[in-house]
Amino acid sequence: MQDIDTRGSPSGLAADAYRLLLDEVGAFVYTADLHGRYTYANRLVLGMLGHPLDDVIGKTFAEVFGAPGLDDALDETDRRVMRDGETVAREETHELPDGSTRTFWSIKKPLRDGEGRITGLLGISYDITEKVQLEVRLREQKTMLDAVLDNIDALVYIKDASRHFQYANQRVASMFGLPVEQIVGRLDSELMPPEIADRFWAIDQQIMASGQSLASEETLTDAQGELRHYWSVVVPWTNAAGSPAVIGMSTDITALHELKEELQRQARTDSLTGCANRRWFFELAEIEVARSRQDGSPLSLIAIDLDHFKQINDSYGHPVGDLVLQDFVGCCRNILRTTDIFARTGGEEFCILLPDTSLHAAGEIAERIRTMTLACQPVVSHPGLRISASFGASALASSDADFHALFARADHALYDAKEQGRNRTVMLPPI
Ligand code: GH3
Ligand code: MG
Ligand code: MG
Repeated sequence: MQDIDTRGSPSGLAADAYRLLLDEVGAFVYTADLHGRYTYANRLVLGMLGHPLDDVIGKTFAEVFGAPGLDDALDETDRRVMRDGETVAREETHELPDGSTRTFWSIKKPLRDGEGRITGLLGISYDITEKVQLEVRLREQKTMLDAVLDNIDALVYIKDASRHFQYANQRVASMFGLPVEQIVGRLDSELMPPEIADRFWAIDQQIMASGQSLASEETLTDAQGELRHYWSVVVPWTNAAGSPAVIGMSTDITALHELKEELQRQARTDSLTGCANRRWFFELAEIEVARSRQDGSPLSLIAIDLDHFKQINDSYGHPVGDLVLQDFVGCCRNILRTTDIFARTGGEEFCILLPDTSLHAAGEIAERIRTMTLACQPVVSHPGLRISASFGASALASSDADFHALFARADHALYDAKEQGRNRTVMLPPI
């Protein structure tokens, strides 16, 4: 330690204490003379070189490794420090004697004698290999994450516990029609209609409080005013500051939603006439029965069967029969209200469920449809074709166990209408 002058050290530390301090400082510390020969090396430098201090003092780095005469090979940085008196701090990558490559943050300062003449340099290097590798990995991960998040077919966002967006991907930006920078830091209620923002906020709060994620279907209007459907998965998260937040991932399922609605519509409607099919009719009828019971409002049913329809098919062909069915439905629609439920319950059989309608009023509606059917001769290209229909009407009674009781009564009335000669309406009041 002869080369290190300890007189200027804090509190005049003794040489041993100074050496200990330099050995434990966690950095590579060395000094060299103007020829680049070591005049001091701390424990970390010696450990790296793999030689004791006595073997190292007076030798250049190259000499320590058996390549003498490299005095001229002092690198440019060392020259700048020792010739120009500069302090140089920079990142350096070195291949070490053990063959490994490591990165250092190196600070080199000139050493001067009492008259200010430069006598060598002091080097302090911190091994930052792991830190640099971590930074590279983090940068890579961020680039990858950004690429994924901006190209994924989903809206991805992070919202904090005070309703502010902390993150939004490109899809969110295009949905709101704003750049990402104008979304991050903004309140959800500034970006969405208040009632929608409040609904989301209620869900977010529930997720933050319970720590449980939630998946649901959501509907939003986009920047172009289009109604869009999303499948949203929102998960609880704790941000870097330790505050609760939520991460939301919403996939646009508008096309799927429309397909589902179309399939549902197809499953519920009759493809020939567009009326509700039998199964859907019975489901709706049960709902109407429950509503009527709750409100105490009347509910009536008309059962319809086209007369001698087999003959129409036989005389004009099945396709003409189909047109007759479609025209009959078209004519009825002109008479019915939007609240009436019109269904094709069989081949040439129909039912009309009339909410808020008494049996008397239902009888009148049946008669109007009957007269209209006679008048509305549907297929222009078949002038001889005449159609008529028979009608059975009844109303829901408090004694009816369910809709089937009403249905059976209307059907019975229809049967009577057929029995009495067709083209007529029979009303069968509840017993
Ligand atoms: P009624 O006056 O007693 O009701 O006589 P009808 O001939 O109407 O009754 P029937 O039950 O004997 O015949 C019904 C006919 O309806 C038989 C069938 O071929 C026809 N039909 C059922 N579904 C369709 C359909 O989708 N298209 C056509 N064109 N005909 C159908
Ligand atoms: Mg029939
Ligand atoms: Mg018939």
